[in-house]
Amino acid sequence: MGQSLLFALSRGRMAHAYLFSGPQGSGKGRLALEMAKAVLCRSHVDGDACGTCSSCRLAGQGTHPDIEFFRPEDGRTSYPVRQLREDIRRRAYLVPSCGPKRFLVIEQAEALVKPTGARNEGADTLLKLLEEPARDTVLILLATRPERLPDTVVSRCQHVRLRPPGPDRVAQVLSAETGLARDEVLFLAHLSGGDVPAALGFLRGKKKDRPDLTALRSALLSLARDLGRMTYPELFAAAAALEGYSRGWPVLTGALGVLAALYRDAALKGAGVPDEVLHFTLGPEAALTRDLAATCGPGLLGSLASRVLRAQDEARRYPARLLFLEVLFLDLREMYENAPVQ
Ligand SMILES: [Zn+2]
Repeated sequence: MGQSLLFALSRGRMAHAYLFSGPQGSGKGRLALEMAKAVLCRSHVDGDACGTCSSCRLAGQGTHPDIEFFRPEDGRTSYPVRQLREDIRRRAYLVPSCGPKRFLVIEQAEALVKPTGARNEGADTLLKLLEEPARDTVLILLATRPERLPDTVVSRCQHVRLRPPGPDRVAQVLSAETGLARDEVLFLAHLSGGDVPAALGFLRGKKKDRPDLTALRSALLSLARDLGRMTYPELFAAAAALEGYSRGWPVLTGALGVLAALYRDAALKGAGVPDEVLHFTLGPEAALTRDLAATCGPGLLGSLASRVLRAQDEARRYPARLLFLEVLFLDLREMYENAPVQ
């Protein structure tokens, strides 16, 4: 970020409002803090924050007077409107106490604009800040679901979309944190969709919410291996088992992501692509994709992968998980039947 940000600043082109959006674990808050640090640093090094000056030290400790984070009170998904109006708006118009700018970071901005009555006071207050910005205040909105923010708000912000770090990076972090075997970590990284807090949550969550990872992993592997030759009763039993192991949509959409990745890997392996572009290069997943590549055509594997990905997208809209899985598995089974014999 350093050079391009400094360039923007030197040309006076820093926007007065930013929207950083991305899934949990994509580093929205960290980026906001780094950006503020880089602007407020007193002795830049190659265009980046030095990390050692008084400003950088205060920012690192979370006590910089010109960097304020607003977050919903713990456990709440919407901001009390009064806190928003009295606190955020008043503080937005303060002058910087030591640096050139003040930074106001509003976490979970979408919670703030949730309608609470006839008038959406949260959205109104944000809009007013965006329409009449304080001269030296930079407003940074963080959102996991930016589509819930009104267009009038989004269009007034410079929107930066962040992506999660990806399963490989997540696997590195997880193996340092958990001491699990590398292939188990890779499975968990894919199951969480590359989201470190979610992956750690699967390991450490309350017992009733925690998926049985060993059982889930083995159910997914058997499913990918045997689906094409399962009888209908076996197919329905597999759907019920997967639904039971995964307990809820977050894990289930992750499980569908793993299944899609297995089919995709197999298709690519069949096409002879190098290992670096594969999701799974270790453990039973790698052995399975090798077998699938040897027994199914790339056309079939590609269709299976895209059908599962579509299901992963649609999943959250369906309240009936078991029925959803049964329909999906029947569709996949039909694809096997219609595929040309290898
Ligand atoms: Zn510094």
